[in-house]
Amino acid sequence: MSRRRLDSRSGLAAGLLGEIQTPICTEPLEHVYEVTGELGRGKFAVVKRCVEKVSGKTFAAKFLRKRRRGRDCRAEVIHEMAVLEMARNNARVVNLHAAYETDHDVVLILEYAAGGEIFDHCVSEELLPEAQIVRLIRQTLEGVHYLHQSNVVHLDLKPQNILLTCLSPPGDIKIVDFGLARRLGAVGELREILGTPEYVAPEILNYEPITTATDLWSVGVIAFMLVTGESPFAGDDKQETYLNVSQVNVDYSGEAFSRVSELAVDFIRKLLVKAPEDRPSAAECMSHPWLWQQQLCLSPGPSSTTTRTVRERSCGTKWAAPPEDLEDKENFLESPHSHAKKFRIDEGTSAPGDGSGPAAYSLL
Ligand code: ADP
Ligand code: MG
Repeated sequence: MSRRRLDSRSGLAAGLLGEIQTPICTEPLEHVYEVTGELGRGKFAVVKRCVEKVSGKTFAAKFLRKRRRGRDCRAEVIHEMAVLEMARNNARVVNLHAAYETDHDVVLILEYAAGGEIFDHCVSEELLPEAQIVRLIRQTLEGVHYLHQSNVVHLDLKPQNILLTCLSPPGDIKIVDFGLARRLGAVGELREILGTPEYVAPEILNYEPITTATDLWSVGVIAFMLVTGESPFAGDDKQETYLNVSQVNVDYSGEAFSRVSELAVDFIRKLLVKAPEDRPSAAECMSHPWLWQQQLCLSPGPSSTTTRTVRERSCGTKWAAPPEDLEDKENFLESPHSHAKKFRIDEGTSAPGDGSGPAAYSLL
């Protein structure tokens, strides 16, 4: 076992964390874990289920490629580890158990979220009852609030990166995938082009400064998707999606909203606003009345299935691309549009409430 540290002065792009405490083991992973099926994959990572031989406990092993597009990206991988370490004490962020390194990959051994992605609940024929959605959004906000208090923004919040500890009844949420997360305020403003087209905030498209409010936009998109089963800005192609986002072209009057509560719509409306400074913070969101309704929140968990409302997805469901589509997982750095002037692609050149109750909510 060897312990490696990365010098925080080693040319990291603004907002990347470099210090890690978790030892990175160089012993072959297979000596300690039995690696089984695949859980998911992105452009530079594969996540596989694995069982720790000595304990019989299941984990998720995220294999992160160190070389990407011919470039050494170990610093980015270490950054993802460092963010997970920073959030170690927060139950809403997936726990980092151990780390390994091979010639090609750094492997993060993560707490296993057996319930899969909340995305599955967005595309399911039977959407979750609002009581459950409220619980999941509250938990997401708790995690986001924790990150923001630490001056870290996730920048890739989407239903594929919010997992559940258990599928049925839905367990607690775990936020994963900190590859695009950044620390704010380290060196000037953060204006990098990040995220997945369907879920990014308008300020990203406009190359305006990124703030914690950027994550709150994504929370609005996630809430929209959970209550309607539709993706608010997905167009037929990326350009149309960008246009929908930048014009905040969102429709609350369609069939998909016919059985959605007014408070849910109000919550989403307050987040999907163009000016970041007009969006409530995570703490302010937590005191929105939608998240505090007695009848919705009384009995979360298994018993809430008794109040379950089955909402059929409307025929006009719009999705930009199937989730398996790798294109959909790309961020702007790889997008074909990244040559356009406003989509800056030089990766190393980023420019420089407590939520304790409904009384604190002042945005209605
Ligand atoms: P990427 O950076 O490639 O998007 P993620 O960290 O988002 O990688 O992982 C990809 C997918 O793998 C997730 O969307 C999820 O389906 C699955 N996954 C990731 N972490 C876990 C985990 N801890 N437990 C179960 N599944 C996971
Ligand atoms: Mg992901």
